Amino acid sequence: MLYIAARPEGKICLFGAPFDSTTSYRPGSRFGPAALREASYSLETYSPILDGDLTDVSFMDLGDIELPFGDPVPGLSLIRSQTQAILDAGRIPFLLGGEHLVTLGVIQALAGAYPDLKIIHLDAHADLRQDYLGQSLSHATVMRRIADVIGLENIRQIGIRSLDKQERELVHMLKSTAYDAIMWAGACPCYITCDLDILDPSIFPGTGTPEPGGMSFLELVQTLVALLSQVACVGLDIVELAPNQDLSGVSAVVAAKAVRECLIAMGQAKSALARISVK
Ligand code: MN
Ligand code: MN
Repeated sequence: MLYIAARPEGKICLFGAPFDSTTSYRPGSRFGPAALREASYSLETYSPILDGDLTDVSFMDLGDIELPFGDPVPGLSLIRSQTQAILDAGRIPFLLGGEHLVTLGVIQALAGAYPDLKIIHLDAHADLRQDYLGQSLSHATVMRRIADVIGLENIRQIGIRSLDKQERELVHMLKSTAYDAIMWAGACPCYITCDLDILDPSIFPGTGTPEPGGMSFLELVQTLVALLSQVACVGLDIVELAPNQDLSGVSAVVAAKAVRECLIAMGQAKSALARISVK
């Protein structure tokens, strides 16, 4: 599906960050982007939910960034550079993770381009720890590091069901919905970061830290489509697919289908795409 529909030039730029060096429980999200692309072979380009087709969406796939393992700092710098190159070309970054820390590299570039940037964070986990196992850069601290860049008041979270007492004090509203986030975002440029462990592990076991009690696939798609059709989306990511944790392969298909629905929803949200002029 992705191979068939991607163009040599497109407004939305997919790129993968195969990185999972700070994953604390079950590693494997470094294999996420490749597995997602492969699983997309099994899917049609047409979406009955959106009555739209991926071949009508202006997107390209830049492939994966080559990232070093171990110290996350050089990897984040490479993700930031790739994002900056996409922004300089007047295009929209769409990152495939990788563990959730990769989002920080994108935001470091986007926050420079959009001073009034807001972030809508979909996740089972708050990811707001000051540090985790002695590390300040981790999948469990990524939203705190992003708050250091853009301010905690510019982040809204959806789906959170795992956090500690200190994180609870930082979360604005534990039961936020897509509607709340849309009202809050207004016309500001918005980045959407989607940690797929927001889904229930029964539909999405292939992830580093599965958390029972999550959304169904359709609930997630409805949430993403509502956001993408209503907010001025200037970038997004889908992270934390660890395909080796789900030998059935279903999790990779779930991730690929979520990407398809996001791309088509962005293509249909003409007003947001029109904000971005391709040079
Ligand atoms: Mn996360
Ligand atoms: Mn999570």
